[in-house]
Amino acid sequence: MHTIATHCPYCALQCGMNLRPEADGRSVTVEERTGFPVNRGALCGKGRTAPAVLSSRVRLTGPLIRSHAGRLEPATWEEALDAVAEGLARTRREDGADAVGVFGGGGLTNEKAYSLGKFARVVLGTSQIDYNGRFCMSSAAAAHQRAFGLDRGLPFPLEDIPRTGCVILVGSNLAETMPPALRYLTELRENGGTLIVVDPRRTRTAEQADLHLAPRPGTDLALALGLLHLVVAEGRTDEEFIADRTTGWPEARAAAMAHWPELVERITGVPVPRLREAVEMFCAPESAMVLTARGPEQQSKGTDTVGAWINLCLATGRAGRPLSGYGCLTGQGNGQGGREHGQKADQLPGYRKLDDPAARAHVAGVWGVDPDTLPGPGRSAYELLDALGTDVRALLLMGSNPVVSAPRASHIEERIRSLDFLAVADVVLSETAALADVVLPVTQWAEETGTTTNLEGRVILRRRALTPPPGVRTDLEVMHALAARLGVEKGFPTDPEEVFDELRRASAGGPADYSGISYRRIADEDGVFWPCPEGGEGAPRLFLDRFATDDGRARFVPVAHRDAAEVPDEEYPVLLTTGRVVSQYQSGAQTRRVDELNAAAPAPFVELHPRLAARVGAVDGRSLAVVSRRGRAVAAARITDAIRADTVFMPFHWPGEGRANTLTNPALDPVSRMPEFKVCAVRLEPAEE
Ligand code: SF4
Repeated sequence: MHTIATHCPYCALQCGMNLRPEADGRSVTVEERTGFPVNRGALCGKGRTAPAVLSSRVRLTGPLIRSHAGRLEPATWEEALDAVAEGLARTRREDGADAVGVFGGGGLTNEKAYSLGKFARVVLGTSQIDYNGRFCMSSAAAAHQRAFGLDRGLPFPLEDIPRTGCVILVGSNLAETMPPALRYLTELRENGGTLIVVDPRRTRTAEQADLHLAPRPGTDLALALGLLHLVVAEGRTDEEFIADRTTGWPEARAAAMAHWPELVERITGVPVPRLREAVEMFCAPESAMVLTARGPEQQSKGTDTVGAWINLCLATGRAGRPLSGYGCLTGQGNGQGGREHGQKADQLPGYRKLDDPAARAHVAGVWGVDPDTLPGPGRSAYELLDALGTDVRALLLMGSNPVVSAPRASHIEERIRSLDFLAVADVVLSETAALADVVLPVTQWAEETGTTTNLEGRVILRRRALTPPPGVRTDLEVMHALAARLGVEKGFPTDPEEVFDELRRASAGGPADYSGISYRRIADEDGVFWPCPEGGEGAPRLFLDRFATDDGRARFVPVAHRDAAEVPDEEYPVLLTTGRVVSQYQSGAQTRRVDELNAAAPAPFVELHPRLAARVGAVDGRSLAVVSRRGRAVAAARITDAIRADTVFMPFHWPGEGRANTLTNPALDPVSRMPEFKVCAVRLEPAEE
């Protein structure tokens, strides 16, 4: 049997793998794909075991409709699609187009994300569409746009990392979230470069570092400002770069000078000598990078926090030059592509803005509709979920599980339960699908073809390797059938390559220009970096000659430290931060169905320092309750000195009583509308076993 070259369905690294179809025609075996440059054959346990979900007994293989008795019962596809079309049409008729919401996901392929945005605006006529990627990297995207005029997670390929002089990795635990990527940091150090990790926990990634800075959660902004202050004080700015390639330095400089090192030590808990060490390590080599992930981004000041790290790069000339720059390590499988082609509340395909008349005219031309019929920008993800059951009365949801993954999850679960109508397309009966009126079972990664865009901006092709089970359909087939039932017969093809060709035309001339990318070319070139105009080359490295702003200069933005939306007080004296573990992925909808992964990571836990454990009477392995202003979660205590004594950590992959997002704070960043997943105030209480 031949093998099929494709990619992992999970995180933004989009590791290459080969799939060998088995003789039974129902399963595949994963084999190494050493030629794909991003992971060179390496996979983490999630990627290796991904086929288990394809043949899992719990995957959905037929539509379900909620009966009068309140149970989800098997139904035919015709019945299910009719019910969804009627549910959405009824709400639109009775309450208006904006009473119908659409919620997508950062795991959807580019073709699906594009079609979903078009479906919302052309078929439903609603402005109320957003997606869970808003919870992932929107602060970095906003900061990128503000400083560089363009948002691509990494403006350079991963292969540049081992050749730079120093990397500051902020709020990323690559060893657990993207293990094959850890090798880039190992090679960096083998080549004589240095690694600084900023994280309140001594993670497996931080253990690799030359210097580990462990700030109090929610204070990364002050930390970056303190480093910039020292850069200025020690005369380490790159004045030529600042003069030739940036604007706004005097204001940003003044803001940084208000954050003197001793003040920053008081705010962050990081001693001044460690700050000086970091500045020396970052400024001594010829080149250096800052990479951020969810730590600094998932805060109510995430955009400013990322902006502060960008300012540090610009002031030291570590941007727009070979082997230097700022980058964001996107999280979800298509976190990058998913934010470029129109499932975001304020966007049209090609990273165009929905409120830009020229962009509306271009995309409406491709879609064959009057630009004036396109709705304007809608609510951001949390605001959309918060409006369910009130302003938004019906919801179509694809590729997301907000009952587990949204902040203040009990409240969001209540909002979802209060909807007049909910339709969910998914591969398993996720916690959100279990609340639906209609559940549509859809194909999985190895059963369909489509493109994703990895964290480097490399557009890659996932190929179909298996015939799907008879009872499931692709998301594209679902949208095609629903559009037809809602009166739009044309414009929703089911062939992914046809959709991609339309996406190329819609993106042509936009910031994320895919018009020169084709399925054929992706296969020949191991992926193509956008922007890639028709007839042009892909662009692995951005900004080397000019930034994407009108004047070609990067923009410093003055930022100042401010507290998290919640700070500890007498009632809630401890900080909670949340994150991931290596054997589970996001809300766990897929990975919790894989025996090997469940055996490795079977349940949530509360990580806390021995001193804090002694203070609250926590015992290792015993249940501990964590209480915030939004609710209470219970999980086993895991006592370790690898975390600050004022902070507890919980992974967020599980539903039920250990659901970390029961506790998290939906305070939103004013620019990106990113909720503050990374920090809130809690208290700890002994719990019944
Ligand atoms: Fe899949 Fe990410 Fe693991 Fe690679 S690192 S195998 S893309 S989950």
